[in-house]
Amino acid sequence: MSEQAVRACPSGFLGQDRTPTKQAVRACPSGFLGQDRTPTFALVCVDILHGDVDKLFHYIIPSGLAVSAGVRVRVPFGKGSGIKLGYVMAVSDEPPDDVTKLKEVHSVCDDFPVLTEETIRLAHWMHKKYYTILAACVRSIIPTFKADGSFPSTRAKKAKTPAPSNTEITLTNEQQAAISQIENLLRDGANPLLLHGVTGSGKTEVYLHTIEKVLASGKQAIVLVPEIALTPQIVGLFSERFGEAVAVTHSRLTPGERFRIWKMALNSEVKLVIGPRSAVFAPFPQLGLIVIDEEHENTYHSETAPKYDTREVAIKRAELSGAVVILGSATPALDSYLKAKDGRYALARLTERINKTLPEIHIIDMRREMARGNTSVFSAPFQEALSETLTAGKQAILFLNRRGYSSFVSCRWCGHVMTCENCRVNHTYHNTAGGKLLCHYCGKGVPLPTKCPACSSEHIRRSGTGTQKIEDEIAQLFPDTKILRMDMDTTRGKHGHAKILGAFRNEEAQILIGTQMVAKGLDFPKVTMVGVVAADMSLYTGDFRAGEYSFQLLTQVAGRAGRAGDAGRVFIQTYNPDHYAIALAESGDYEKFYEYEMSLRRAMNYPPYEHVFSVMLTGPDERAVINALQKLSATMVYCARLAKNSFEIIGLSPAFVSMIRRVYRWKLLVKCKEEAPLVAFVLYCIKKLKENDTLKDLTIHLTLNPRIME
Ligand code: ADP
Ligand code: ZN
Ligand code: ZN
Repeated sequence: MSEQAVRACPSGFLGQDRTPTKQAVRACPSGFLGQDRTPTFALVCVDILHGDVDKLFHYIIPSGLAVSAGVRVRVPFGKGSGIKLGYVMAVSDEPPDDVTKLKEVHSVCDDFPVLTEETIRLAHWMHKKYYTILAACVRSIIPTFKADGSFPSTRAKKAKTPAPSNTEITLTNEQQAAISQIENLLRDGANPLLLHGVTGSGKTEVYLHTIEKVLASGKQAIVLVPEIALTPQIVGLFSERFGEAVAVTHSRLTPGERFRIWKMALNSEVKLVIGPRSAVFAPFPQLGLIVIDEEHENTYHSETAPKYDTREVAIKRAELSGAVVILGSATPALDSYLKAKDGRYALARLTERINKTLPEIHIIDMRREMARGNTSVFSAPFQEALSETLTAGKQAILFLNRRGYSSFVSCRWCGHVMTCENCRVNHTYHNTAGGKLLCHYCGKGVPLPTKCPACSSEHIRRSGTGTQKIEDEIAQLFPDTKILRMDMDTTRGKHGHAKILGAFRNEEAQILIGTQMVAKGLDFPKVTMVGVVAADMSLYTGDFRAGEYSFQLLTQVAGRAGRAGDAGRVFIQTYNPDHYAIALAESGDYEKFYEYEMSLRRAMNYPPYEHVFSVMLTGPDERAVINALQKLSATMVYCARLAKNSFEIIGLSPAFVSMIRRVYRWKLLVKCKEEAPLVAFVLYCIKKLKENDTLKDLTIHLTLNPRIME
């Protein structure tokens, strides 16, 4: 309580001992804190990312200062009472228990609330759900601001909009049925809906029709896509249909541009926001619908704290605002399909392609090719089909999930493998700029050595195949054919992806080679062939979800072929033709895959049957990281014996990449049938260790049911 405020109290009631109690404040007869100046206190989340201050602090709202829930304020904080930025999460007349140390709000940053009532509740929910500091949750919800607290400005650009058009399309019966099912949900408000539609079945048209209904009812909608750069068609279709009502956000916009779109959503100046996962926070005042396209994609999982699952956040937002969520996919995530089957989600199906024909899939056993003396990365049928495709004037997409030229470089004499000095990963050889070795984790590049750093031998070998090498080899096989390559190396810059995709659409090239960037969502009518150069790469990653990812990836990439008039052909090259994920991708039977994969998960006690909690510790001193994790593991083993529930502790082990940028990474896993006791157990054990400073100077990364094993 400021001296000034106490002195100003006309009753003198607060002035007597200058340490007003809670009762005294309430009883103050002068109305000093009274009726005409409600509310009296601001509950502030200070913008400091530290666990020790991860709570709300009461501040007095001085007279004349308009402080409401959702605005950002500056407040004196800490020992020196330095001024810090904070978020007003609530205002109240109820004083805290201890009113002796109350300070006043210093000033207000915003003339409008940056958090709405709904997003304040969402922030609290994320705080709890993802074990993340509240301020970090708030930061992920609102746009980034500058160090001085101001939001970045941007010169208003004239929105380029081709006028809304209404292309007449006759919906299929299945599309009709899905749309009326969603309309019922919009009317009655209820479950999320899983739209399970095979590739090319016209899911986008279902979204478009539904959104039309939502906008007509005066509400707003969000469409989430895995990566905006890879979905230019979706964006094009929506802009065409809804004109100026649409705003598109993506990671390559400037902070100013992103703030502008966010503000327009807040004021409902736009009605539809399309974007990647962060667009789930678009602050629409009357949100009616959230569509999550390709809901199984890992890009919907935030990799930094708060490590949120966009699908969960969307469903929570929908619950808070009365909106409906549609999850769309040809290959739903296992847990989503389980929920649809047991009734937690509604389910609509599109079982047929618009053109009625799914592509023909050929699995090619590369061991036989080798036995026949073909040592090339391309099998005979693959080369033949590609040649036929080109002769017929059609286009082909070739997929290999590894960029660069050679995936590793080693010494033939002593076997030494060239690795990054900052990370425990091997270098990849890139043939750009005269040839160099590149680390795909920290980005550091070094020249290709002429001598082995270990034994000085000059016999350096480059092995393994990346997209650059595929491009080279295809160019040798088909010297007169124009080729485009799309991977992280060719798509830098704001319009990197769009340029390549545009050129391919305009048939400036007949072959598109790429990493997983070419596997998703693309709809090119002239593509009749898809080639998967090496399907084995995703099978043995040590992740229990490897089978699920492989099946999804193969089905999705296969789905790029034969989407228009002509039938499509897909060639999947593998050394493991009998692996279930590959064999089932051949039939494209999702249902069969689901049953099989679920039986494995049940047998192994993995999600979605049991919950897995990953605890990773990272720090610059590996010994300290391991010691701390050993202590944590011992604590867990001890506590687990006393616990009612059964916990299985697996670990410790180095993370998938155990050093990145000279930071060491070790982890352990805890499994349990039920979520709530598992979370409580892990948090309890960590708290115990924090109390005796074991975890000091280390960073703790907590992920429940991690999508990607770190
Ligand atoms: P998905 O997202 O299910 O893979 P899309 O929504 O991209 O499929 O649709 C595949 C193709 O079919 C697109 O080119 C789309 O324009 C077209 N299409 C969708 N619905 C219809 C329809 N009812 N009649 C004719 N063409 C359609
Ligand atoms: Zn050597
Ligand atoms: Zn590195």
